[in-house]
Amino acid sequence: MDFIDLHVHTTASDGTMTPRELVNHAAASGLRTVAITDHDTVEGLAEAITSGADAKIEVVPGVEISVDFSGEMHILGYFIDYKNQAMNEALQKLRQYRDQRNPRIIEKLKALGFDITMEEVAGVSGGTVIGRPHFAAIMVKKGYVKDAVEAFELYLGAGKKAYVKKDRLSPEEGIALINDSGGVAVLAHPKYVKLKAGNDLDNVIKELIGCGLKGIEAYYTEHTPEETNKYLDLARRYSLIVTGGTDFHGANKPKIKIGTGRGNLKVSYELMKQFNR
Ligand code: AMP
Ligand code: ZN
Ligand code: FE
Ligand code: FE
Repeated sequence: MDFIDLHVHTTASDGTMTPRELVNHAAASGLRTVAITDHDTVEGLAEAITSGADAKIEVVPGVEISVDFSGEMHILGYFIDYKNQAMNEALQKLRQYRDQRNPRIIEKLKALGFDITMEEVAGVSGGTVIGRPHFAAIMVKKGYVKDAVEAFELYLGAGKKAYVKKDRLSPEEGIALINDSGGVAVLAHPKYVKLKAGNDLDNVIKELIGCGLKGIEAYYTEHTPEETNKYLDLARRYSLIVTGGTDFHGANKPKIKIGTGRGNLKVSYELMKQFNR
């Protein structure tokens, strides 16, 4: 059987492998298909696709967009036209929101007594997207926390001491952006969708389908078998396509391996047929 990974990050956002390294790693791991889904950027895609041709592995152009939904929700876009101008302009704006937020995180960390500069954080990122895992990496390196998990639990996670919210697109806007550039919009890691009192995931899914959502990431590193089954059932009931991936970030999430996550994830190549490409 052939396996795939439809959720991975490169140095274009907050992963630690360059697009070429990552594609080679995916090929060496025996995967048949890998989708590159960097946060708020398509800058790694051209290199990834060229590398895919060289390494004889299918590379799907993708993106992961953070949208506003009782906190943060992530929408994956697959088979996007990454040269699409509207897409590039909108992603540029999302990176501006980050660039406005990031110095404010530095201020909070400094106020907490940490000696951290924006230059240091930028230095560990390989591209134009600077995210919280880069802050975590510096905090680990300087010995302020034992690992990235602790950095998020104490400081960088939502609502923690150095957390700063960034502006985001609405779900409608994020999904429309993907559809308008010819892509397929998929709800990422539904486990992390925050439900307001009285709302259930069915209602959220119905609302997102109304915005143009086409799929759900049922197979995911952190999903239990029960959760996966729940999302597969949801997909059946709402005629959504099913995707799966690890959220591989290289050394920024050292326990998560490409293709298999924490060791037991398997995402079948059969799922690719749903995209009709
Ligand atoms: P940002 O896009 O800069 O807000 O950072 C978001 C990224 O940080 C996510 O995609 C994850 O990779 C990581 N992240 C967010 N929350 C946590 C957490 N509680 N623990 C570990 N990593 C996290
Ligand atoms: Zn990330
Ligand atoms: Fe995500
Ligand atoms: Fe991700």
